[in-house]
Amino acid sequence: MNIYFLTFGCKVNLYETENMKQIFSGEGYGIASDEAGADIFIINSCTVTGTGDKKLKKEIRRLRRCYPTSIIVLSGCFPQAFAEEASNIPEVDIVTGTKNRAELPKLLSEFTDSRSRVVSVCEYSRKEQFEHMRNKGYENNTRAFVKIQDGCGMFCTYCIIPYSRGNFRSKPLDDVISEITELAQKGFKEVVLVGINLSFYGVDIGKRLIDAVEAVCQIDGIERVRLGSLEPEMITLEDIKRLAALKKLCPQFHLSLQSGCDKTLKAMNRRYITADYEALVNALRENFENCSITTDIMVGFPGETEEDFEASLRFAEKISFAKAHIFPYSPRKGTPAAEMAEQVPEDVKHRRAAQMGEAMEKCHSKFMESQVGLTVPVLFEREKSDKIPRGYTPNYTLVKILTKNSNKSLRNQLFYVKIIRIEKDCCIGEIVS
Ligand code: SF4
Repeated sequence: MNIYFLTFGCKVNLYETENMKQIFSGEGYGIASDEAGADIFIINSCTVTGTGDKKLKKEIRRLRRCYPTSIIVLSGCFPQAFAEEASNIPEVDIVTGTKNRAELPKLLSEFTDSRSRVVSVCEYSRKEQFEHMRNKGYENNTRAFVKIQDGCGMFCTYCIIPYSRGNFRSKPLDDVISEITELAQKGFKEVVLVGINLSFYGVDIGKRLIDAVEAVCQIDGIERVRLGSLEPEMITLEDIKRLAALKKLCPQFHLSLQSGCDKTLKAMNRRYITADYEALVNALRENFENCSITTDIMVGFPGETEEDFEASLRFAEKISFAKAHIFPYSPRKGTPAAEMAEQVPEDVKHRRAAQMGEAMEKCHSKFMESQVGLTVPVLFEREKSDKIPRGYTPNYTLVKILTKNSNKSLRNQLFYVKIIRIEKDCCIGEIVS
């Protein structure tokens, strides 16, 4: 039997899907490279937004329509947070959550034996252990993602994640080191440490994120270490000094802001104010040369007035992000914000998103222009069909080389490149050494 996997959501989900593939391969299943070759579909879902849930259900209906005799498994965050709703989707044969993925082959045999729907969504306990998973070097690229943290216990009022992922838990540091050592032995030069709330790595095992980053930077063969999305409140000025001493750490920080208005941050149950955030950004910029700061900003949170939005907009402009992901607030059933009285009308949310987006686009252009004239190390990626060599700078700016590479591939090699101009969303450069 062949399985086709579909992944929704973030890098953490992609990492988990790859681990599920390893589990099923070990059980003798084939992994289909396209839908048509599949007998079983395993969907690793996300549930961060209501719109995402709608897309997920539409995709399930499409699969059932196109492949009426296949087995459809729904796993991941959506069934974990909304078990009843998930188990009522008629097209799905097996429903499971974000826990006990190792049990999936057993659930599959249960279904094939009985041909009746199997629902197995286990609740998280407060003292959950990190589910054992490893990246065995599946990425067809230069960069490997390594999940080192799961869960979140912060309960921001708009967020469903603490309900779909359980409390904080961390991969033991020895496991992180051995996993990345193996990746380095397989030739990976760059790793990205990811988690559901990465900044809280170690809170359950008496460690801190900085300990993991320092340990990973010491691994031979790894030349670049990147960090996934960070929450601002756990990073101290002392941490920044220690991080800045690590030559392999890339100066690219995705620091979740959500709002640049203190009143809104409080209503969101975020644990920092804009002054803390700004101090953190300043410290990062002082300690890391040519550093890029990116973020997520939500607009139209319940109770956000025009003045609050203006404050948020001014703050975001002041920080001048290299890139910002803007999204209008969308109520998540089961969260406190969804029940708040002062919901902002949809047209207002969309107008604010457009306004914020336009302002952030200007900041992005300013950042890109600031790269022109610099000579930076670029780690080249697998070439696409156009044969144009491309790769990323330490601050994660995409660089393409003008001349097509007619000889051997530059993949997985580092060269110094002079940035000569900007084209659309990337830099154009020439190799200098
Ligand atoms: S810190 Fe992040 S993951 Fe945790 S509740 Fe808040 S938004 Fe969700």
